[in-house]
Amino acid sequence: MTSKYIFYIDFDGTLANTSELSPGGWNVINAYEASIKDIFGDVGLTIYKDDLGGLKNRAPSEIIYLLLQKGQEKNLRDELIRSAEIFYSAHQEQLEGLMSEGLGASFAYDTEEEIQERVIAELLVRQKLSKLIPEIGERFSDGRTWPEPFPGVIEFLNQMSTRNQDKISLIILTSGHDNFIRRTLKTWSVPDDHIHILSEDAIRGMSLPEQMWLRAKPGPLPMVLAYGDELNRQDRDETAWREQGLLTDRQHLIIAPLVDDVQTLIIGDDPKNDGGQVLIAGSFAWFNPSLKESSNPADTGIVFTDWYALTNLLNSSKSRKGIIEGRPIMEILTNQISRESEGVRLYGVTREMSRG
Ligand SMILES: [Mg+2]
Repeated sequence: MTSKYIFYIDFDGTLANTSELSPGGWNVINAYEASIKDIFGDVGLTIYKDDLGGLKNRAPSEIIYLLLQKGQEKNLRDELIRSAEIFYSAHQEQLEGLMSEGLGASFAYDTEEEIQERVIAELLVRQKLSKLIPEIGERFSDGRTWPEPFPGVIEFLNQMSTRNQDKISLIILTSGHDNFIRRTLKTWSVPDDHIHILSEDAIRGMSLPEQMWLRAKPGPLPMVLAYGDELNRQDRDETAWREQGLLTDRQHLIIAPLVDDVQTLIIGDDPKNDGGQVLIAGSFAWFNPSLKESSNPADTGIVFTDWYALTNLLNSSKSRKGIIEGRPIMEILTNQISRESEGVRLYGVTREMSRG
């Protein structure tokens, strides 16, 4: 195995400030709301906002699943489905081509049968992307473009993917979409050949596992699939991962701890959905620029307010020596963080260190 370290990095709110309104007035939050209203009408929008509490960092399939479940409880499911069918018939053609080849769920349904939940999730994603993709790279009056990277993100991605590419794998692990992310990286002029993506597009079309809690962060499927892709890139054949008890095949997940010879760092802005993945593997680096309090922090890791601070820490001569020696990632980081460190500090117990 050539890569000893894997960094799983969230996208929205971590690398890109997608909650800022674009020059055309869209962000991830209102694009979801408008798309739900387009597809399900006011009935759907009311359930989404009042009963589900809005986006809450949820994956699109999870939103559709919960929306229809709530609809069922309120005897509104048939109405929601009918509304989605009408929208699908009217807009299916213009929504072709928004998803990269081989990604996403099937966008075809047999009109003899009820439109499937998975087709509706695909519909939601495409409708949302039809609003957001034209905004990528659009200029604000002050010359900035949308969506902006957080300060230091470009330097982090450039440094980690060039200087350390043989030791550190960078994987963007996100409930967003490949197409949106690749286009955004392009507008940032970040060379992305060494940046891998495992997005919701890889999961939406899968029939198994059925349980939604397994399929979206902090459930294990995103990370396990990303890890499987990583092994494939490193020319490990699938037999190797079967032997490690990871997967019986791509659609049959066996929950198993990831192999021990990889050092995993999860970087994200959401202590619950990103940080919760420490139960599968690794430690959490919480990007928390506004120093929010959290009622549900992962019990291990570091918190940082500034990507420059994390980049400097990883680029120090001590870190580079540690990385070459294959030391545990939290040991490398924590040994250098002092009370005086600007922009990055420790919290909780460091799980990887206590595991030895
Ligand atoms: Mg996020």
